[in-house]
Amino acid sequence: MILSADELAGNAAVERAIGEQPVWPRMGADPGRMYRLGIMGGTFDPIHNGHLVTAQQALDDLDLDLVLFMPAGSPAFKQDREVSSPEDRFAMTLLATADNPLFVASRLEIDREGVTYTVDTLEELHRRYPKNVELYFITGADAIIDIISWHNAERIAEIATLVGATRPGYDLAWAKAAIEGSGIPFDVRYLEVPALAISSSYLRNRTHSGQSIRYLTKDSVIGYIQKHGLYREARA
Ligand code: ATP
Ligand code: MG
Repeated sequence: MILSADELAGNAAVERAIGEQPVWPRMGADPGRMYRLGIMGGTFDPIHNGHLVTAQQALDDLDLDLVLFMPAGSPAFKQDREVSSPEDRFAMTLLATADNPLFVASRLEIDREGVTYTVDTLEELHRRYPKNVELYFITGADAIIDIISWHNAERIAEIATLVGATRPGYDLAWAKAAIEGSGIPFDVRYLEVPALAISSSYLRNRTHSGQSIRYLTKDSVIGYIQKHGLYREARA
């Protein structure tokens, strides 16, 4: 467990998350050292190998202690299309991360009411963990550009380090220039990830048209999609 019961009192979402995920490694327990907590945010509709490879690369290259996979509740930037239920997206995230002790699926965002803002999540983690836990927010080359225009980007820069990962089809150098030109003092680490030109949209489209998504995500996730009949209907 990361935090004591006293520290968690009053936060029903986190208490529930820990109840359902008993294996949360301790973070920040040794005041003599720094801890690095990665946060991989996304809609994860569905989670796929691009997400998993990126998180693993961040873990290795930046020497992170743990990566939290944080499915967005009601994503601020995806109000225009129908998104699978938070519980389905969380279940798939849990299945995909279940065999890696350094990956943890978190309910923090899906249990929060209303539209999800990353800054609120980072703020909550910043508040709850001791000072020797550093936050690393991991994004692909497309998503990192959005951060500049996000709600409270300055605050994100104050409390977290950004990790910008290469993603096929998106220019990380362009993202870098945009971030530097933003005037916001982001601390950014750029990450070279073995290329996987796949997206959740691609998996949804293939499933919808009856094509296989084998090897694009974990078999457990594919089983869940089949069992629950996800992505059969045409969607935006
Ligand atoms: P969609 O097609 O629905 O937008 P997606 O594949 O982009 O889905 P998201 O949940 O939107 O997945 O993305 C979550 C995070 O993962 C983002 O930071 C995104 O840049 C990153 N990401 C997604 N796919 C890849 C990939 N193939 N390589 C590197 N990063 C990725
Ligand atoms: Mg996306």
